[in-house]
Amino acid sequence: MPDPLWSEASRRAAFEVLQQFLPRAGAEYTAQRNFDYGPARRSNVSGLSPYIRHRLIHEGEVLDATLQRYSVTTASKFIEEIFWRAYFKGWLEQHPTVWADYRSVVQALVESLDRKPELKTRYDTAVHGATGIDCFDAWVRELRSTGYLHNHARMWFASIWVYTLQLPWQLGADFFYRHLIDGDPASNVLSWRWVCGLHTNGKTYLARVSNIASYTAGRFNPQGLLAHEAKPLAEARIHAPRSLPPAQGLPAGSRYGLLVTEEDCSSESLPLQGSPVALLGAVTTNTRSPLPVGLPARKFALGAVADGVARAARYFGVPAQSAQSDSWDDALVAWARSNELDSIVTAYAPIGPVAERLASARRILANERIELIQIRRAYDTCTWPFATKGYFRMKSGIPEVLERLGISGRTQNTQHASN
Ligand SMILES: Cc1cc2nc3c(=O)[nH]c(=O)nc-3n(C[C@H](O)[C@H](O)[C@H](O)COP(=O)(O)OP(=O)(O)OC[C@H]3O[C@@H](n4cnc5c(N)ncnc54)[C@H](O)[C@@H]3O)c2cc1C
Repeated sequence: MPDPLWSEASRRAAFEVLQQFLPRAGAEYTAQRNFDYGPARRSNVSGLSPYIRHRLIHEGEVLDATLQRYSVTTASKFIEEIFWRAYFKGWLEQHPTVWADYRSVVQALVESLDRKPELKTRYDTAVHGATGIDCFDAWVRELRSTGYLHNHARMWFASIWVYTLQLPWQLGADFFYRHLIDGDPASNVLSWRWVCGLHTNGKTYLARVSNIASYTAGRFNPQGLLAHEAKPLAEARIHAPRSLPPAQGLPAGSRYGLLVTEEDCSSESLPLQGSPVALLGAVTTNTRSPLPVGLPARKFALGAVADGVARAARYFGVPAQSAQSDSWDDALVAWARSNELDSIVTAYAPIGPVAERLASARRILANERIELIQIRRAYDTCTWPFATKGYFRMKSGIPEVLERLGISGRTQNTQHASN
């Protein structure tokens, strides 16, 4: 069971969780993955999401290890789940207004709570797990204390939040994002939108009593307590797609510093040229929400960045330091000046709080003639173009992606371009 390992946010722990899970990644995962047996029994799923989310281990490494052991067919379900993450990341990257709207609506809703006592009471009842719906209240306690919920529980929870408790989906997504140790702008916001019919137009997800009873192995049976229908929500805005931003390269001969953020804590495997002259770790977990972010989520992100910085410092043999504030503008300029940097290099930050911090810093750094370069991994460049419409296109592209990245399984050499 990976629970104690989530307390160690490190690349070492990520590989240990992977090794423990691999013997069950084939037929057993396919048969068992949908069951939520409760926090004490999680071995039917991998528990890898907090590590993958912070890229303490990356998807290419998980796919490669899986295919060293199984054929694509035997592990197809697990492989497809791994690609769901790339689908959501790529889709949000091409629809940035979804995130911008979500951010401003959460801000407005949180500010409105004090003016709307009826909404505030219902919201407080839900987030304190006092609704009287046993399963929902138990998931609130589990989420707050562990920072994790099983995928099926996340779907039931979101559906009950929207259709039974009639609360705004954005406040529910914000509650998840504040507490999940794998909290991810794309997977979280787009899954909530999927539940209420905003992602796949008109298709919603209704949490049913019989489904909860079966897939929690009888732990819960909220008879008579849940909504019976799930009408799709509507929104006025049409989210027009944009092209994917082009991948950047590192100018030859640049004197650069390497910035490690919670988006990618394995910088030593980025395709860099030469070595950085300095390292900086920066965290922005507190800016996930206008409301306080849960301790497990903060601790995990902080630990992941600390582990990423320590490994990169050993690998490159350069000094490392940490930025202490949530605003990075001044910290980045001071760090770049003191190390006489031409450029700051970091792993590409997909849409989310890190990208927001970098966008703000870029303007200030430009005044100092310091370039900010974001290096995108081959895995993202290869997968994201498949995330234009529904998941089906991504799923049918899996063989092509695996081949292009050189992840072909047991008979192949393990050296590949999946970074
Ligand atoms: C409302 C809602 C909110 C969610 N929010 C997040 C989030 O903030 N961060 C997050 O990583 N996942 C999120 N998910 C997806 C999914 O629930 C988790 O990735 C999964 O439960 C993590 O557990 P695991 O690592 O044991 O998954 P496994 O079943 O072992 O899957 C392996 C890996 O595949 C990826 N994956 C699996 N299912 C999904 C999925 N549906 N969408 C995207 N990636 C997936 C994850 O990286 C996961 O670690 C959300 C799902 C829902 C319904």
